[in-house]
Amino acid sequence: MPGTEKFGQEELKEVMDVMQTGILFRYNHEAQRNNIWKAKEFEEEVKKITGAKYALAVSSGSAAIFAALAASGIGYGDEVIVPPFTFAATIEAVMLLGAVPVFAEIDETLCLSAEGIEKAITPRTKAVCLVHMCGGMADMSSILEVIKKHQLILVEDAGQAFAASYKGTYTGLFGQAGSYSFDFFKIATAGEGGVLVTNDEHTYKMAEYFCDHGHNHEGTNRGMEQHPVVGFNFRISELHAAVGLAQTRRVPEIKSINRKHKQYLQTLIKNSVNEISFSRLPDKSGDSATFLNLMLPSTETAKIFVEELNKKGIGGFNYWYTNMYHFINQWDHIKNLKFPNKMAIHYLSISQDYNNLYLPKSQEVIGRLVSFGIRVNWTEQEMQQLASGIIDCLKKAIYTAKHLQ
Ligand SMILES: *Cc1c(COP(=O)(O)O)cnc(C)c1O
Repeated sequence: MPGTEKFGQEELKEVMDVMQTGILFRYNHEAQRNNIWKAKEFEEEVKKITGAKYALAVSSGSAAIFAALAASGIGYGDEVIVPPFTFAATIEAVMLLGAVPVFAEIDETLCLSAEGIEKAITPRTKAVCLVHMCGGMADMSSILEVIKKHQLILVEDAGQAFAASYKGTYTGLFGQAGSYSFDFFKIATAGEGGVLVTNDEHTYKMAEYFCDHGHNHEGTNRGMEQHPVVGFNFRISELHAAVGLAQTRRVPEIKSINRKHKQYLQTLIKNSVNEISFSRLPDKSGDSATFLNLMLPSTETAKIFVEELNKKGIGGFNYWYTNMYHFINQWDHIKNLKFPNKMAIHYLSISQDYNNLYLPKSQEVIGRLVSFGIRVNWTEQEMQQLASGIIDCLKKAIYTAKHLQ
């Protein structure tokens, strides 16, 4: 959780600015707010880092991906290609919009592959919701080719990849709209919050209206605004935006330290354990480096490695293959469409049987993947200790797996 490791005077100052005026609402109240506009400043800061033309701060990363899909015109009955490895919010957003998720294969980038996307296309496919996982990025040049060839809409969930880029373009900005999360576990946090980005003015306007009951925010009298579309409340509060602003200013520094720490660990580990590899980064220089992603030789070895880590009391890692939130094997509620109410998806024809998906590549990749969260406050000694613990456990796991065969 790198962002939360770095709370300080800066966060306090921004929050106190808001508390002093008492205007916790992001719109209007011009007379009382003393020119304090934290949500707007937060958006400007995100634009500065990513180069996005438009940014909209909202109440969560989930709201941001939901609004990004809606504002891009994704709705009833549209098939949206999604990965089986993501935070569940991506899939929930598609279903809540009345659209139909179609699962496609990921590869060693931990993201959808061009090949996976192409195989999942049907005549009803409208969009791809690409998810940039674990601080890295998808292989954009091959993916953009497929998007163009089939004239699909691209929306990016960059919930875990704020400040990551591919050949100079930041995640979230390759398609029609993208989203970042600023929840408690991300590279920067607002407590709860998200930001939607786009380079398209119409998409931005639709998102802006959609996230505030359709208000067009023109003029200074909230009661007299027009409502070009129906929307809902996905607004961020000024307090959350204040924290997000201070944290976003720290991101360039956090990213650069993360990258050094990741490189340090990777070098030590690779030098001692020949059999280990890492997730594939299509552009190494664009890595936000929030995770060290170890690829074990097999799922069997990874499982033994996790047991060894637990035995040794080494924490701070995710084995997504068995984690309840990020991989499809544990998503029975989603696969069985268990909503509290009747939803469009219950009446739509679904081209896949969610309970019998055939995604061998994704199973193989996530089975082998163990991710360690990179911490920005680590000392060199702490990193050496962690690396030597990881190396011990890796050697044991690889040895044990060999002798089981
Ligand atoms: C964290 C995350 C989200 C959701 O963000 P919240 O701010 O927690 O709602 C969505 N997608 C991905 C890939 C995430 O990692």
